[in-house]
Amino acid sequence: MILVYVCPQCQEIRIVSRRKEVTCTVCGHGMELSGLTFLEWSEMTQEQRKEYGAQWCARRRTKEIKEQQ
Ligand SMILES: [Zn+2]
Repeated sequence: MILVYVCPQCQEIRIVSRRKEVTCTVCGHGMELSGLTFLEWSEMTQEQRKEYGAQWCARRRTKEIKEQQ
């Protein structure tokens, strides 16, 4: 099972197979499941992946703000 993780800190996307704790190789922050499947990810261009990472982080921030209220 290959999973797609995103770093909420720097938007880095990483492909991981069967790991419990995933740490960002760029900034060291804990990574979270992106919701993308490996197949979806593999069909995206580099540009689309960057865009997805940015949108995912924006959504996550919105969610965080809502949870704090
Ligand atoms: Zn990072």
